[in-house]
Amino acid sequence: MTATLIDGKAFAGHVRAQVADHVARLKEEHGITPGLAVVLVGEDPASQVYVRSKGKQTVEVGMKSVEHKLDATTSEQDLLAVVEQLNNDPEIHGILVQLPLPAHLDEDLVINSIAPEKDVDGFHISNVGLLGTGQKSMVPCTPLGCLMMLRDYHGSLSGLDAVVIGRSNIVGKPMAQLLLGDSCTVTIAHSRTKDLAEVVRRADIVVAAVGRPEMVPGDWIKPGATVIDVGINRLDAPEKGEGKTRLVGDVDFHSCAAVAGAITPVPGGVGPMTIACLLANTVTACCRANGLAEPEGLTA
Ligand code: NDP
Repeated sequence: MTATLIDGKAFAGHVRAQVADHVARLKEEHGITPGLAVVLVGEDPASQVYVRSKGKQTVEVGMKSVEHKLDATTSEQDLLAVVEQLNNDPEIHGILVQLPLPAHLDEDLVINSIAPEKDVDGFHISNVGLLGTGQKSMVPCTPLGCLMMLRDYHGSLSGLDAVVIGRSNIVGKPMAQLLLGDSCTVTIAHSRTKDLAEVVRRADIVVAAVGRPEMVPGDWIKPGATVIDVGINRLDAPEKGEGKTRLVGDVDFHSCAAVAGAITPVPGGVGPMTIACLLANTVTACCRANGLAEPEGLTA
């Protein structure tokens, strides 16, 4: 491996420490405790793990954590009533409705019922529009984490060629907007892109957000490029024992690390940054709600 390893786990630790500092200052100087509410509908095991982890980390940085666990059969009306109550609660500065929701609930309707200034996932249509027009918004956590790591590694991103593979609303599109905001020349690739290998070979920065295990090989990477691997894919790992699995990203780590200038690993890259950025967004939302200066370096 010749590439520098971008250690997302360590970086997330720094972000959480910055958030904790700011939370302590908000308490001491203004008597304000930022509050994050997470709403979970149903018993999806992966969602339960995420929600537990979010709650634990929220408390660890000194913020108030509230969890609303609703039955899988909860009606849309009842869910909207919970969101409305949180919208009106002055002690709650961030609201996150854990996705996916059960099939009978309209995700767009629910997400757009969250007060935009409390939408710490950055999925509300107002925040999508604000980001798209280069205005101050709540920024989706995963792309924000990628941007923070890229800024830290490169300093300025201005003029760099960036290719984002994937055009989802939660990762690919906001990632592309953020890179454009930092003056990269951005290409968004997707499943219909012709000659993806050639497109990726032009890039100084490659962000892979596809959901296909190890699909980007090293010979697609321009020597010295920075590779950010958003993918989280679980593969069987019989060598670890029966029924065991291992996590891999969307890029083939070993062949890409031999060519790239810098690369994020999976696990320990983008993943830990996502929750750290959720905490950062909550403290930012709290500062905005109270007309106070936002913490530096924790927003786009
Ligand atoms: P989606 O399934 O919503 O989007 C995947 C995108 O990849 C689509 O735009 C799709 O194109 C594109 N794609 C699929 N196949 C190909 C292909 N062969 N060549 C080029 N593009 C292709 O996924 P998400 O954006 O939600 O997530 C992407 C990955 O990131 C997943 O592995 C997910 O688990 C992970 N993830 C990780 C997070 C973290 O915290 N680290 C957070 C969120 C996601 P098209 O639009 O044409 O179908």
